[in-house]
Amino acid sequence: MRVSFTTVFTDTLPPVDPAIEELKGWCRRFHDQGLTPSYDGGSLGNLSFRPEKRKNSFIITASQLELKDNLTADAFVRVHTCDSNRGIVHASGAREPSSESMLHFEIYKARSDINAIFHGHCAPILERAEEMDLAVTSREEAFGSSALVRRVLEMLDDHTFVVMKNHGFLALGADMESAGELALRVHGECSR
Ligand SMILES: [Zn+2]
Repeated sequence: MRVSFTTVFTDTLPPVDPAIEELKGWCRRFHDQGLTPSYDGGSLGNLSFRPEKRKNSFIITASQLELKDNLTADAFVRVHTCDSNRGIVHASGAREPSSESMLHFEIYKARSDINAIFHGHCAPILERAEEMDLAVTSREEAFGSSALVRRVLEMLDDHTFVVMKNHGFLALGADMESAGELALRVHGECSR
């Protein structure tokens, strides 16, 4: 998915943070579980964490990245801030940040309790969302669009698991472990 915003890079070096190793592990697990299927040379799905609590900057997987084992340092980009109205993302890294960076940014801004956001694609979750009583957005919106961001924010409330209609899911957590385990649990329950 190509990005629908303009990225202003403050630095072209990839971010350095010890927790990136943990994020790499979750990228591998999501890939292994089929939660980030391949698409157009990359993978559908994007994972991020907030290194410093209560700041809105975060580290996220790059755009058009194939999520797999042994990701290199340039697979991750730090987003410092977003200007959603003007469609500008301020970032540092060697690649474009994920096309859903605006969505991650607005969720971190709205929810100080959330420090990890994992987005994946999973057919059984979409198919069984209502039966399993999951929170679902009111209508389908284009990937990476500001309409999608608004659609999620209008129903986000204090949910930690959100299904984006006909698209994918967002698993949110106070840390990466909570977000990741939640995604794997719902995936398991919907795949039974
Ligand atoms: Zn998606």
